[in-house]
Amino acid sequence: MYIIIVFVITFNQIKELDSKNYFTLFNRQNVCFTHGNKSVLFDTNKNSYIDFFSGIAVNCLGYNHPKLNKAITNQAKKLIHCSNIFYTEVQVKLCEELLKDTGFSRMLLVNSGAEAVEAAIKLARKYFYERSEKRHTIVTAYDSFHGRTLAAVTATGQEKFHKGFAPLPEGFKYTPYNDLQALKKLINSDSSIAAVMLECVQGENGVKPATFEYLVGAYALCKAKGILFIVDEIQTGMGRTGKMFGFEHFGIAPDIITLAKGLGGGMPVGALLATEDVAKAFKPGDHGSTFGGNPLACSAASVVVNELKHNGLLDRVSDLGTFLTEKLAPLKKYKFVKDIRGMGLLQAIELTDDLKNVEVVGKMLSKGFILNAAGSNTLRIAPPLIITKQEITLLANALNDLFANTNI
Ligand SMILES: *Cc1c(COP(=O)(O)O)cnc(C)c1O
Repeated sequence: MYIIIVFVITFNQIKELDSKNYFTLFNRQNVCFTHGNKSVLFDTNKNSYIDFFSGIAVNCLGYNHPKLNKAITNQAKKLIHCSNIFYTEVQVKLCEELLKDTGFSRMLLVNSGAEAVEAAIKLARKYFYERSEKRHTIVTAYDSFHGRTLAAVTATGQEKFHKGFAPLPEGFKYTPYNDLQALKKLINSDSSIAAVMLECVQGENGVKPATFEYLVGAYALCKAKGILFIVDEIQTGMGRTGKMFGFEHFGIAPDIITLAKGLGGGMPVGALLATEDVAKAFKPGDHGSTFGGNPLACSAASVVVNELKHNGLLDRVSDLGTFLTEKLAPLKKYKFVKDIRGMGLLQAIELTDDLKNVEVVGKMLSKGFILNAAGSNTLRIAPPLIITKQEITLLANALNDLFANTNI
């Protein structure tokens, strides 16, 4: 029997249907969004919210973006999917435009972050296989996040994400983040290492940036030993930190980077960028994806790339990032504010144990601001890159009001 729901249902009915039908994986916030415009979202009760979350650092162009809408609608009318068995103009144009001035010479399109990470791991291993070198180990950092598929979750250096899913794939090792000596020791003691994969800011772990010395040092260690250096830019890429890719702040040249989240401005799309030498390790048939690089996703990503590179969006992020840092700085006076950190429009407020981040997120939501609880007691701030200074000021004032009225 099919029940087609065409009548208008209430928020309570929506919640009931969700709890009855959907996998119970998420602790959802008590809100059901209907639509958005620019950096503002609207719910079923007609409340509005300024978004400092962007659907987990995804909606870089905000909501109802005219160019993004137009590109997707036009492409939908022409061709949504045809598979990678054929050429499409929109895919080749996206790659040409995104690769330009990056130092990478090839890219591969996938549908999500985890898929990009999977492909990066496979590529790194294939690279050494092609050279008949017995190297397969992938080194990642403790407290990292690389996705939820089996290999990506194994690369994720957090036991809580591994629990219950054994046996995990072999060939992964972990090293403490921002500890160059530990990485040096590991690299010197293990000749099976194929790649080191790091985030330049650990986003899911509460926005913890790599120190300059660490990332540059880790890169140099890898280069000296012929180990591939992978930067997972899924959260930090596509302008989020004020540069096209986060690694550009460090003056390094990774062999592979992974992209997703902001890349499609909300359309599911991920990518792998690699140097020629590394990319050519993948031969026809070695890897693939039915949906990866489909024209619809490519049309969306093309708009994002164009807005960042040719419409001033990237320059805007650095400016707004500095403004956000300045506006948040006075909150340090509250004794339950432990640290404020980040890069560009990926920032965070870490709280002491006296005040729980989830409590602040809930209270801010009822005031009309969307924030996110990340890492250990941290508030993550990752607005659409089109956010305004006025909206940032509203956030800072609202946080100040809330903290001023918190009696701890
Ligand atoms: C979100 C994220 C992923 C996983 O991306 P999905 O699209 O959820 O698979 C991987 N790495 C980093 C750094 C991320 O932030």
